[in-house]
Amino acid sequence: MALETVSHFIDNKAVPSRSNRTSEVFNPATGEVTKLVGLADAAEVDEAVTSSTAAFESWSDASLAQRTRVLFNFREILEQRAKDVAKLITAEHGKVLSDALGEVKRGQEVLEFACGISQLLKGSLSDQVSKDVDTYSIRQPLGVVAGITPFNFPAMVPMWMFPIAIAAGNTFILKPSEKDPSSSFLLAEMFQEAGLPEGVFNIVQGDKVAVDAILGHPKIKAVSFVGSTPIARYIYERAAAEKKRVQALGGAKNHMVVLPDADVDGAATAAVSAAYGSAGERCMAISVVVAVGGVADELVAAIQTKMAALKIGPGDQISSEMGPLVTRAHRDRVAGYIDSAMSQGAKVITDGRSHALYSAENGGFFLGASLVDEVRPDMDVYRDEIFGPVLSVVRVEDFEQAIELVNANPYANGAAIFTRDGGAARRFQRSIDAGMVGINVPIPVPVAYYSFGGAKDSLFGDTHVHGEDGVRFYTKLKAVTSRWPQEHREGVDFGFPQNR
Ligand code: NAD
Repeated sequence: MALETVSHFIDNKAVPSRSNRTSEVFNPATGEVTKLVGLADAAEVDEAVTSSTAAFESWSDASLAQRTRVLFNFREILEQRAKDVAKLITAEHGKVLSDALGEVKRGQEVLEFACGISQLLKGSLSDQVSKDVDTYSIRQPLGVVAGITPFNFPAMVPMWMFPIAIAAGNTFILKPSEKDPSSSFLLAEMFQEAGLPEGVFNIVQGDKVAVDAILGHPKIKAVSFVGSTPIARYIYERAAAEKKRVQALGGAKNHMVVLPDADVDGAATAAVSAAYGSAGERCMAISVVVAVGGVADELVAAIQTKMAALKIGPGDQISSEMGPLVTRAHRDRVAGYIDSAMSQGAKVITDGRSHALYSAENGGFFLGASLVDEVRPDMDVYRDEIFGPVLSVVRVEDFEQAIELVNANPYANGAAIFTRDGGAARRFQRSIDAGMVGINVPIPVPVAYYSFGGAKDSLFGDTHVHGEDGVRFYTKLKAVTSRWPQEHREGVDFGFPQNR
C-alpha cells in the first residue's frame, strides 16, 4: 500500500509538493516508515509567500475584535481535540502520550495569551507635547513572517509563534521539522475550521532548500527559528544579511546545581524527571547535575535508585514513562557518548544500552536512561549538547565553583538550583548568565505571558519568544506627532520643529 505523503497547507487547502523530493517519517517505537513528507522547492515557497502576501492586506485591516474572535474559536476547537494532536506527536516523535498532551496544553497557553493581545497592542499618548500637538505611538504588524521549528516540540514551538504573529495582524508561514510534520498540519486545519481566512496561516514542508528559500525571499519580513545552535547561527546571519528581523533560539546544556542543604530525595526525583522525560529531547532538559560539596554520593545513589524504576516503552502505552528517540541515527549518536565518557575517564553508573529494548528485534529507536558520574568539563559528554537520556554528574567543592562552571558553559538556556537557603538561591538567580532560572524547579519554562529564551549560544538575536517580547517581535512601532490647531497661523516657520 502506498504511503501517505504529508502536503503543504496553502490557502486553507492541502497542496501536494511537486518537487519529487520526499523525506521519510518514522514511528520511532517500531522503526517503521509510516508516511512521507514532500519537500518544498523555492517555487513552492514562493507560492506560499504569494498567498500570504495577498492575505495580509485584508487580515491586517480586520478589526482587532474580528481577529481575536477567530483565535478564541480556535482555542475552543483545540480544547476539544488536544488529544488528537497529542496522538500525532507520539506517533511521529515517540514521546509518551501524557507528555505530548502536556506539550499541546503549553502551546494552548500561548494561544490563550494571544486571545488577549489587545492589551499589549495599545500604544501610548502624550497630550499637548507642544501647543496643539499630541504625540502617540501605534503598533502595526510587519507583513508576511515565517517560523522554522525543530522536531522535539512539533506542536508547542510553532504555537510559541503563530498565534501571536497572527493575532497581531501578520500572515504566517510555518516550515515545521520534516521529522514530525503531521501535528502542525492538524493545527492549521483546526485554525481554518475556526474561521481563519485563506493564506493567513500557510505551511510549507521541507528541509534546507525550503529554509534557504524563506531566508532569501524579499517579501518575508521576519523569521523566528528554534533548533540547534549551528543552524540558529546560520539563520541569524543569513536573515540579518537579508535585512529581516530575526530571532533564532539554539541548543542547550542545562545545569542543575544541588547544594549540600537541599532536600536530596526531592532533588533526585526532579533530576530523574527533568533528565529522562521525553528521552532527554527537550531544550530545557537537565543534562548536567552539579553536586556541591558532600552531597554527591547520596545524590548519585538516589538518582540511580529512582531511574531504575523508569518504565520505558512505546509512547502510546499508558504504562510508559519514557519513549524512544526520534530516529535511529540520533539514538546511535547519543549512545556513542556513553563510550566516549568511558574512554575519557568518567564513571558510567548506568549504561542505557543494557536496557532490553535497546537491542530488541522490534526495530524501535530505544535507549535506556544513562547516568555518568565524575564528569569533567573537558569531556565530550559535558561539552556537547547530547539531546538524549544521558545525565552527567560534575562534582565541585563549593558554590563558587558551581557558579563558575555554569557561567563558563557556552550554552545558556536554563539553569536550576536546589537548596533550602534563600540567600544562596537569590545569589544564584542574580549571578547566573542564563535566560531562565529555576529555584527548586528543574525545568523553569515560564508561563505564556512571560517570555522564553536563552543567552549566549542558546540565542541569536535579542528578543525571546511569546509574552511581551513575542508581541514586540511581530510588530513595529510608529510614533505619530499630530497638530490640530485651534486657530489659523500666519506665515511659514523654516526653523527645526521645537516643542514650545
Ligand atoms: P535542527 O537545528 O536540526 O532543525 C531545526 C529546523 O531547521 C528544522 O525545521 C530543520 O528542517 C531545519 N534545518 C536543519 N538543518 C538545516 C540546515 N542545514 N539549513 C537550514 N535549515 C536546517 O534541530 P532539531 O534536531 O530539529 O531540534 C533539536 C534542537 O533544537 C536541539 O539542539 C534543541 O536544543 C533545539 N531546541 C531549542 C529550543 C530553545 O528554545 N532554545 C527549543 C526546542 C529545541
